Amino acid sequence: MKLWEDKVRRVVPYTPGEQPDAPDMIKLNTNENPYPPAPSVLAAKTAMDESRLRLYPDPAAGALVHALADAYHVGSDQVFVGVGSDDVLSVAFLTFFNSEKPVLFPDITYSFYPVWADVYRIPYEKKALDENFRIVREDYYGENGGIVFPNPNAPTAWYESLDLVEDIVSHNPASVVIVDEAYIDFGGVSALELVKKYDNLLVVQTFSKSRSMAGLRIGYAIGQPELIKAMNDVKYSINSYTMNMPSLVMGVEALKDTKYFNSCIGRIVRTREWTKEKLRGLGFEFPDSKANFVFARHPQYSAKALFEALRKENIFVRYFDQPRISDYLRITIGTDEQMERLIAFFEDYMGDRAFSS
Ligand code: PMP
Repeated sequence: MKLWEDKVRRVVPYTPGEQPDAPDMIKLNTNENPYPPAPSVLAAKTAMDESRLRLYPDPAAGALVHALADAYHVGSDQVFVGVGSDDVLSVAFLTFFNSEKPVLFPDITYSFYPVWADVYRIPYEKKALDENFRIVREDYYGENGGIVFPNPNAPTAWYESLDLVEDIVSHNPASVVIVDEAYIDFGGVSALELVKKYDNLLVVQTFSKSRSMAGLRIGYAIGQPELIKAMNDVKYSINSYTMNMPSLVMGVEALKDTKYFNSCIGRIVRTREWTKEKLRGLGFEFPDSKANFVFARHPQYSAKALFEALRKENIFVRYFDQPRISDYLRITIGTDEQMERLIAFFEDYMGDRAFSS
């Protein structure tokens, strides 16, 4: 043991989904969008003035903040941007969860929450989802140091009504409630409309899923100006230049093309509904999904065995060997062709097993 060991900040890190690079693979494991970013984003990349890379980017990310403010009809002082919503959430944890009381979040949820809580030494308490994986609103009525949950939830894909979100926000005027809306564009109603009414609500969204820009790392939060100011103060106390210049330029472009955005979402939603029907036909069970993924179990087949068999065929899905969810696979919605190949794999697998048993 080194003499300095006891002074090191030790954490168990978050494990991101793997990024394999196999030939002809079907990658349905990290909820990426199967379609390219809007054509205007790619055009902006080509037209970018590379001599500007010599300079630091705008620390306030002004162009993107203004574009987001216009797109969502809020003031520029109500928008915070960061390096993916992971960065935005991390800054929000550090800024708002600064109490001796525990922060509350569901037991089955985005597995980064306990990691940020641990690294920042924030006490937390997990509140069990009910047997159908739904949030129990009364669990969030007690005293707490803050609340965070995704809507739709990940990895379950359930969308909770705006009524439930508002109920939790309105019961907690003395805490900041963060609603992580990474998947909201695939069918839910955003809590953004509640921001006017509640000074303790922070809504976090991302360009990674619905805008096909996971590689550029753009996330944002919208809330009342006091919340955004507090987050910027923390950000400027750590690193002023979080957003790189190409991401700023391309992020602004992405917001202009609403037609492409809507058509891309429409395609994914149609493919999702087709996939649900096929999975149901094969005997899978799953919470209804309003996200770009489905969280499914099969009463006769082990999720782990399916996960491994899929992997051998270079079809990557996500499996969590964790309490309550080890029977489930999280399957991202890809293109029609990818989902057809996935379903064909299940049909063969189950046909072969049925035949041999
Ligand atoms: N929140 C949830 C619920 C997620 O699933 C993800 C994706 N892993 C994120 C936030 C972070 O996404 P990003 O940093 O790409 O915006």
